[in-house]
Amino acid sequence: MADLKLIKGDITQFKGDAIVNAANTGLVGGGGVDGAIHRAAGPQLDIACRKLHGCPTGEAKVTPGFNLPVRFIIHTPGPIWRDGSFEEPKLLRSCYENSLKRAVENGCQTVAFPSISTGIYGYPLADACQIAVSAIRRFNAPLQVTMVAFDETTYRAFEKAMG
Ligand code: ADP
Repeated sequence: MADLKLIKGDITQFKGDAIVNAANTGLVGGGGVDGAIHRAAGPQLDIACRKLHGCPTGEAKVTPGFNLPVRFIIHTPGPIWRDGSFEEPKLLRSCYENSLKRAVENGCQTVAFPSISTGIYGYPLADACQIAVSAIRRFNAPLQVTMVAFDETTYRAFEKAMG
């Protein structure tokens, strides 16, 4: 029931209720999209994240959006890809499902995702896209979800997965 659309761009520019951050389990800020979100949201984000005392892989925790044009940032640490036999698919699906749950709990109607785990964490892109698309489309809530692909390869892979 959740509606899904795809755009190419920088998730820190997204205007809506919430963006999702591909975080790490320490919620300490890192590289990739996490670094971009921390830079754009400002130093208050780091202070808020430290008060959450980390987040297990596949779960999701919420902070305000601070300097970003969203009310909330939903932080979810994706699985680090090893060989696929360490529950990576299940954990990646949980990232999307738990992030969507946090969005609904906080009264969000519009939420944007980056492609979780397919950067530094090395999850095979085509497989990750299938999981993302199916988890979002199966999620039963009136949400408008935007996948924000940062590069052309990611955009094309999501386009294919969305059919
Ligand atoms: P992970 O550690 O979960 O793999 P990364 O941040 O390394 O997370 O990469 C996840 C995806 O986010 C990659 O496709 C990367 O290109 C993308 N990305 C990086 N910066 C941004 C941004 N500003 N907006 C949207 N996506 C981004």
